[in-house]
Amino acid sequence: MKFYGIVPPHIFKEIAQRGSMSQKECAFNTLAVSEQFRGRRSALAGIAGLAAVPTGGKRRTIYDAKNRFQLPGRLVRGEGDRDGKDAAVNEAYAGAGVVYDFYENVYARNSLDGRGARLDGSVHYGRDYDNAFWNGHQMVYGDGDGEFFGRFTGALDVIGHELTHGVVQFEADLAYQDQSGALNESFADIFGSLIKQYANKQKAGDADWLVGEGLFTSKVKGRALRSLKNPGTAYDDPILGRDPQPAHMRDYVRTSDDNGGVHINSGIPNKAFYETAARLGGYAWQKTGRIWYVALTEKLSEETNFEQAARLTVAAAQELFGVKSPEQEAVQEGWAGVGIRIKTNESSSQTNRWTSRSGKRVGA
Ligand SMILES: [Zn+2]
Repeated sequence: MKFYGIVPPHIFKEIAQRGSMSQKECAFNTLAVSEQFRGRRSALAGIAGLAAVPTGGKRRTIYDAKNRFQLPGRLVRGEGDRDGKDAAVNEAYAGAGVVYDFYENVYARNSLDGRGARLDGSVHYGRDYDNAFWNGHQMVYGDGDGEFFGRFTGALDVIGHELTHGVVQFEADLAYQDQSGALNESFADIFGSLIKQYANKQKAGDADWLVGEGLFTSKVKGRALRSLKNPGTAYDDPILGRDPQPAHMRDYVRTSDDNGGVHINSGIPNKAFYETAARLGGYAWQKTGRIWYVALTEKLSEETNFEQAARLTVAAAQELFGVKSPEQEAVQEGWAGVGIRIKTNESSSQTNRWTSRSGKRVGA
């Protein structure tokens, strides 16, 4: 069973060190569930209980876990059903709809797998559970403890982030460890952020480029979980600690925690995307997003690292917009801004070598 949580483990470790007794207990419980989930095979039994619906277009099903850890829980809303009284159900349903529309309208992609996979989500997972995650099959949302975190369905980019882990899984399937894992996180942050910008009709220059704004309660000193524009500045709180993300390769964090810092070093490719989008202007999903999307779906593979990702996004920009196009140059400048310099003349031959070595995707 996979576990891709929006809240990284370092935040819970900070709470466990500095929080009050009840806060510590809550952090321990959330971490314990996450750790347990990673190794839990019996959870697959719950997945088999998901409603059977034929394949097609936009199909959302929302379940209520009723504060338990059993998945998926009770079916409470299917595609086309009206809003009910439960805000978490309504938000999970509406958010999944925006994510579906984004991928369909912008990149002509039919759901997470490109074949109309049903979008399943369970709300009210556990009690005071401080996370939301994609488990390889469905979305799962906690209610938050009310002390540090509110409802996890409340932030559209969180829904976009988690469902994008599904897209990554069906495409490059980036291994969730070290640099490939940080790229997996980065794609989830980038498209989560683009989905929010798409819903708000915001241009690159007007967006906040934050991930998870609105998740923190007013007690927390911080705006969001992460910032693509300024990694390392999203929060600085006496109990939660400080946003540890680097924005440049010189500050790359070597750690064995968090699968080799997948939620930490993702700040570097996040910043490269932001720098590119800031240069190209307009709606970021149209050019920069398309370059990254083509790289994700046609070029990257399981073991891709930062430098290869840089090269492959430059190659994607060349294919989409032309050699020496302003778009290609913006991508190169974006990566150069985080300390990864790519020379154009060697990019196409390198691209072929790396993609064929991976054995998964051959060709430019
Ligand atoms: Zn994630």
